[in-house]
Amino acid sequence: MAVTRRALLRGGFTVTAVGALGATIPISAGAAGEPKAGPNAVARPTMHGCAEWGARPPNGTIQVLDHKPTYIVVHHTAGGNSNDFSLDHAFAISRSIQDFHMDDRGWIDTGQQLTNSRGGHVTEGRHRSLEILDGGTRHVMGANVGDHNSEIIGIENEGLYSTVDVTPQLWDSLVRLVAYIAQQYDIAPSEIKGHRDFNATECPGEVLYGRLPELRDAVGAVLGTPVTQPYSWPLLKPGASGARVLAAQHLLRARGAAVPTDGVFGTSTFAAVRKLASANGVAYEPCYAGRVADESGFVGSTTWPLLVRTVRAGDSGDVAAAARTLLANRGERAGGDVLVDTAMWRRLLS
Ligand SMILES: [Zn+2]
Repeated sequence: MAVTRRALLRGGFTVTAVGALGATIPISAGAAGEPKAGPNAVARPTMHGCAEWGARPPNGTIQVLDHKPTYIVVHHTAGGNSNDFSLDHAFAISRSIQDFHMDDRGWIDTGQQLTNSRGGHVTEGRHRSLEILDGGTRHVMGANVGDHNSEIIGIENEGLYSTVDVTPQLWDSLVRLVAYIAQQYDIAPSEIKGHRDFNATECPGEVLYGRLPELRDAVGAVLGTPVTQPYSWPLLKPGASGARVLAAQHLLRARGAAVPTDGVFGTSTFAAVRKLASANGVAYEPCYAGRVADESGFVGSTTWPLLVRTVRAGDSGDVAAAARTLLANRGERAGGDVLVDTAMWRRLLS
């Protein structure tokens, strides 16, 4: 059912969004570093600045870095899936996030650079984000992806997308916005990421994260650039089961954790992952847009590099057992001579 639904959505996108984009967004042919204005530039989407939505002044100096961001990161706010698609509601969401980030997190301003509402309205997050994005050469330092804020520009998408899809308005707006950012900074579609590609978090939700390949394709089509889909470490959390969980359990045992090898992500696996992350100095970096469940024991992008190491499939021990589990799951040969290095782990786990 999921495949059918996804295919239908993709078909729907082709009809509606490409039609709309085709009418308003000509293909970009600008060379790297060239001014972005002109007949071949991606049109600047409507973006509402801090003054429009009534932002509070920042509680400190906005840091502007003298380089472009490397990645565009998609988040969800993990808040309610409102059916109020108005501009006023988008402004209210922006104010509420800013209040949370300044009053509860103690940050100088909103953490993300941009916010996209379920009605498809884009607002400025951290002050100066629009001015610097339009300039296309520098980067407003935000606070939305732990340990990576100097290299990412983040978009908070209103709602929770763990089990349900985004609205068509949010999606179309996201495609336009990401295409514009990609053009301004010459960022390849392969560098469009989800928050979970950097931190072990659910964000931007299983459903929205699952649509990132489609987002890269759509942005590539707008920009007229080829698209390479990157491999990514999977996110495993309580309730998950199967070969990847079993592999993670073998890898945890190889690191000294007394977890079962039942292929079911239970409480002892969660506790072992949290302990491993803590012992290796991996800061707990959940998504800060909203208040979310405890994600400290999720297996994600910061966990796998601590777990995998190069082995041959025929070696003894738990690491090789994990490799054989994944090879068998893929229907691939698990002969003793098969070398499983980091690239191979990434491919087998993706
Ligand atoms: Zn996030």
